[in-house]
Amino acid sequence: MNLKIDQRRLIDEIEKLATFSDAEAPAVTRVVFTPTERTARGWVKDRCQEAGLIVRDDAIGNTFARWQGADLNAPVVGTGSHIDAIPNAGKYDGVVGVLGGLEAIRALQQSGLRPRHSIEVLIFTAEEPTRFGLGCLGSRLLSGTLSADAAKKLTDNEGATVDQVRRGAGLAGELEDVKLPNGYHKAFVELHIEQGPILEREGKPLGIVERIAAPASLRMTIEGSGGHAGAVLMPDRRDALSAAAELILALETAAKTSGAIDTVATVGICDVFPGAVNSIPARVRLSVDIRDTNLQRRDNVIHALDRACRQTSAKRQVAIQKQLLNADAPAESGSAIVEALSEACRKHNFPYLPMTSRAYHDSLFMSRIAPVAMLFIPSKSGYSHRPDEYSSPEDIARGALVLAETLAALTK
Ligand SMILES: [Zn+2]
Repeated sequence: MNLKIDQRRLIDEIEKLATFSDAEAPAVTRVVFTPTERTARGWVKDRCQEAGLIVRDDAIGNTFARWQGADLNAPVVGTGSHIDAIPNAGKYDGVVGVLGGLEAIRALQQSGLRPRHSIEVLIFTAEEPTRFGLGCLGSRLLSGTLSADAAKKLTDNEGATVDQVRRGAGLAGELEDVKLPNGYHKAFVELHIEQGPILEREGKPLGIVERIAAPASLRMTIEGSGGHAGAVLMPDRRDALSAAAELILALETAAKTSGAIDTVATVGICDVFPGAVNSIPARVRLSVDIRDTNLQRRDNVIHALDRACRQTSAKRQVAIQKQLLNADAPAESGSAIVEALSEACRKHNFPYLPMTSRAYHDSLFMSRIAPVAMLFIPSKSGYSHRPDEYSSPEDIARGALVLAETLAALTK
C-alpha cells in the first residue's frame, strides 16, 4: 500500500478553517454553537461529503463522517477530535485531528484500500469547557460518562440550557439517544498536537500516548472568624487564610510524596474575604486540581487532603466545606492500537516517543467504551491555547500519514 498525504491540501484546509473565527487573525475564537462554529462545522462536513463520506449529526451535534467498509456489521474504526476553540486560541488544537483524519481517509481511498471495517471521523461537540463549564460534553455523552439528565442541567453564561442552545442551533433528536451502543467502535485513535514541550525538546517528531492523566477538581470553603487586625490577639484568632495555607502545603506535600512524578496538585484560586489590609480573613475559597495517570495514587492525595482538613479544622476551630466537582478516572491506551501506531512509525523510520498525555482529551471519555490511543505531533515551544500555537506542515503531514497507516492496519 502506497500512502500519499497531500500536505498542501491539508495545510490549506487548516488555514481556511482558521478563518472561521470570532477573533482577529492569527487568534482563533470558535465557541460551540455560535454561528461561527456552526459555519466552520458545516464547511468541514462539506469537505467530508466531497470525499464521499456519509455525514450525520447526533442530538448534541457530534458529527460522524463515515467511509463505509465492506462489512456493515463490523465495528467502526474511529478517529477525529474537535474544532471548537477557546477565546484567543490557535489554529491547530483539535483541528489537526479532524482535518488530519479526513486527509488520512482520502489517502487510504487513493491507495485503493477496500476496508472491511467502516472508518469514521468524529468531530466532537464542546471539547472546550468555555460555554457550559464542562469539557468534553460530546464525548462524555457518547460514552455515557455524563447522563442526558445531568447534561440538561448545564447552562451557559447567559443561563440558557444545553437543550435550548442545541435546538436553537437546529439540532433535533433526544440527548438520551446520544450514547453509542456497546461495541460500536473496534478502536478509536486521535491525532493531536502535544500542547507541551517534550517532543520538541527530545527532537522526536511523534509521540504515542500510552496513558491519559485525569483531573479531580474540588472547591473548598474555609470559614473562620474575622475581626480587627490590631484588636484581636493571636490566641483568640480563627484566621481562615492561615488555615487555608496549612491545607495548601499539606496538598503539596501529598503530591510530592506520592511516589510518582505523574502526581500533580494545584491550588489555582484563593479568594480571601473580606480582603482588607487591617481585617482578619474570615472566609477563604480555594480551587483544587489534582491529576495523575493512576487513579489510586490520585485518590490517595484526595484522602490526604481530607485528613489535613480534619486536623486543621480541629486545631484552628474553622469550618471546612469541600465539594468534589469532578473526578474522572485516568485511562490506559489500548495495546493493539499502540502497537499499530508503533509499527506505522517503524515502517517509515519515524522516531517516536512513548508518552503520557497530561492534558485530557475526548479520547479519555471514549476509553470508557472503546480501546483508544493518541498520536501526538510537536507543538512549537510547547505553546497551545494561544494565537502563536504552531505545528509545522511536515509534522502535521507526518502525523496524518502515521494515522492513515494505523487506520489501515486496524481495519484488517
Ligand atoms: Zn484539543
